[in-house]
Amino acid sequence: MQFQASKHPLVAHWLTEARSKETPPKRFRHLVKEITKILIFEASRNLKLSPTSIMTPLEKVDSAPQIATPITLITIMRAGNAMLDAALDVLDWARCGHIGLYRDPSNLKPVEYYFKLPQNIARDEVWLLDPMLATGGSAEASIQKLMELGVKKIKFLCLVAAPEALKKLENLNSVELEIYAAALDRELNAKAYILPGLGDAGDRIYGTIEAH
Ligand code: URA
Repeated sequence: MQFQASKHPLVAHWLTEARSKETPPKRFRHLVKEITKILIFEASRNLKLSPTSIMTPLEKVDSAPQIATPITLITIMRAGNAMLDAALDVLDWARCGHIGLYRDPSNLKPVEYYFKLPQNIARDEVWLLDPMLATGGSAEASIQKLMELGVKKIKFLCLVAAPEALKKLENLNSVELEIYAAALDRELNAKAYILPGLGDAGDRIYGTIEAH
């Protein structure tokens, strides 16, 4: 497993604004999308290019570079949906999947309520999108299902990661896993929220709980 926290100043700046409880859902959603786009750039840095032949308005180019890797973007609903919109703006040829998981409040374990992926997913590199990598439970459950389907390479993009999640995901060694986060935070609290974090990302994106 490889982990990278962004060093981009814009990411740090926007994440500070997203963390503030004064930031309303409209602005929060926008910040999630802008940060996601930079994470996509960072995660795509080592994608392989293959030559293709095109005509410009002026002449033929025989070896114009084109990304060769097939990519499936998967949102872990619901908070991942805001990241998916932004990711698709950049990787507009990618296929998309949706995984619905919620945390059972009694034991904090992930419960699946929706699972819809593109066919033949095993041939693709899969990029999982979820703003908060907290306990790592949803990430682990999603990654395990993808491994069962034959997926070999997974990138996980999040805004904030907790050390507890990284420790859990370290043990998944039969898949190539790269994690790209805007920041690595300090720890989880007793309710498995990330500290300092930004609160419940889904509620902040969709305005389902009023700020207090
Ligand atoms: N999910 C969230 O939305 N926020 C946290 O801090 C942890 C999990």
